[in-house]
Amino acid sequence: MSFPLLSSVWKHLFTKPFTGKYPSQPAKTYPTTRAKLLFDQEKCIHCSLCSKVCPTQACTFSQKTGWPTFDRTICIACGQCAQACPKDAIEISSDFHTATTKKQSHIITATKKAPKRP
Ligand code: SF4
Ligand code: SF4
Repeated sequence: MSFPLLSSVWKHLFTKPFTGKYPSQPAKTYPTTRAKLLFDQEKCIHCSLCSKVCPTQACTFSQKTGWPTFDRTICIACGQCAQACPKDAIEISSDFHTATTKKQSHIITATKKAPKRP
């Protein structure tokens, strides 16, 4: 008589679980993990290229303020904007801790006035 289930249970009884202990232990990320978009306003030169390549309109550019705005609630972390940015002002970080009760915290834009164009 064979007991396939019993042998499987016995085999896995002393092996480590494949699942992690998140959130009590930090979850593993990889160099290719794409999650939270970060914007460095100090590097931005107001060229608006990021908004032109965004497939979801998560990135929009205001001619009035001279700044791009990123809506992380509809951003798919494709990285097109970061690739197009000539100044590396955009980073798609591996930080996936995006849960929040404040939607506004996912709207990223500059906090200062853009310089006047000549
Ligand atoms: S990562 Fe992709 S979806 Fe998100 S803002 Fe940039 S271009 Fe748009
Ligand atoms: S592409 Fe880069 S430099 Fe140009 S507006 Fe966007 S963030 Fe600024």
